[in-house]
Amino acid sequence: MFMHIRCGMSEEDGQQYYALVNLADTEITRMATDYSDNELELFRKAMDFILDSDNGLASSTDILNLADTVQTKKMKKKDAEQVLQRLVQNKWLCEKNGEYSLSTRCIIEMEPYIRNVYQDSVCNICHNVAVQSQMCENPLCGIRMHFPCVARVFRGQPEPHCPACKDFWPHEIPELNISQSQLPAPSQPGPSNEKASRYGRPRR
Ligand SMILES: [Zn+2]
Ligand SMILES: [Zn+2]
Repeated sequence: MFMHIRCGMSEEDGQQYYALVNLADTEITRMATDYSDNELELFRKAMDFILDSDNGLASSTDILNLADTVQTKKMKKKDAEQVLQRLVQNKWLCEKNGEYSLSTRCIIEMEPYIRNVYQDSVCNICHNVAVQSQMCENPLCGIRMHFPCVARVFRGQPEPHCPACKDFWPHEIPELNISQSQLPAPSQPGPSNEKASRYGRPRR
């Protein structure tokens, strides 16, 4: 009865995914059955590292160095490597070419935490949490957009401008590599719109 279905978007391809969320527990305590205290601490540190990074990625070296700063119980490099593997197996992290990112599952289930701690990490287009994303370089603006959302919103525009502050958008526009019909339309009524009104930042 405390279960709730939450919807999120893959930052890779823009497709929508659903995760079953247990509202009775907080996200990290629910992981506590599978991971020990120092393993959870490493995961939290890795998550913060990725959220603080510009590109939403951390290398295995970055994460293994974080293992040295774990305070609950000292962790050997070898143990940290195994934790990292399990986090990928259990789909909390994704690994690609030695770089780690937060999985879609992680972003959906940790959404309350991410929104709380990183209030600017919300996509200007779909209003979901955005980790792997592009950011407006105007320091007074600084909005974020997912790569698939950037691709969609700037499609066919030779000179893209930030949808919020209208400054030139200096980043490379990614290719939209899935068919348009699979993308959620921004004007569709649904959970993402509800969230937008609840969490959306006032425009400057
Ligand atoms: Zn988005
Ligand atoms: Zn801007």
